[in-house]
Amino acid sequence: MPYHTYPFELPPLPYAHAALHPYIDEETMRCHHDKHFQTYITNLNKTLEPYPKLQKLTLERLLTYSGILPYEAYVGIERNGGGVYNHGLFFEGLSKPSEEAHAPRGYLAALINRTFGDFDKFKECFGAAALDVFGSGWVCLGLTPLKRLKIYTLTNQETILKQGARPILIFDVWEHAYYLKYKNARAEYVEALWKVAKFPEMRFRAD
Ligand code: MN
Repeated sequence: MPYHTYPFELPPLPYAHAALHPYIDEETMRCHHDKHFQTYITNLNKTLEPYPKLQKLTLERLLTYSGILPYEAYVGIERNGGGVYNHGLFFEGLSKPSEEAHAPRGYLAALINRTFGDFDKFKECFGAAALDVFGSGWVCLGLTPLKRLKIYTLTNQETILKQGARPILIFDVWEHAYYLKYKNARAEYVEALWKVAKFPEMRFRAD
């Protein structure tokens, strides 16, 4: 999604709706991906309709530079563009529980160990940040402009782009992401996400 331009379209899930069972149920996936994500896409297109020049910019550029735009475009891009960007990363970053890649490998693993101590300590910090998000939001592991790892908590549909960071792993902690199955038990949902969260291969040295 980061490099897509207007008109935006809902990217199909790269796995079946039921593929993440029992950690994320099919009904949640249908509602979350097909309805919530679609609504952000539809509303982002509506936001950009009156602005032919903005239609040529990638989602990443729109989100990075939204601060200099007219207020209505700014708000629409922050809310809907942020929703498209974050959800795109989130759904792409999950995979079947049977698959490999549910733990970081290679350089990313080394960087996590160096920054947090070990993978379990990283999960503890990330999980605590996920529980600390007050109201609706996200928790995101990102690479800072100085190429260090940092855990970001984001409110509503904020992204880490304005801080010059690039996302590595993101968890959706809006209630719509877990309420059907986990009700108010966000901690159980976050624990389950580790079984289906996928870590990317980092192909560059970060220092
Ligand atoms: Mn969501």
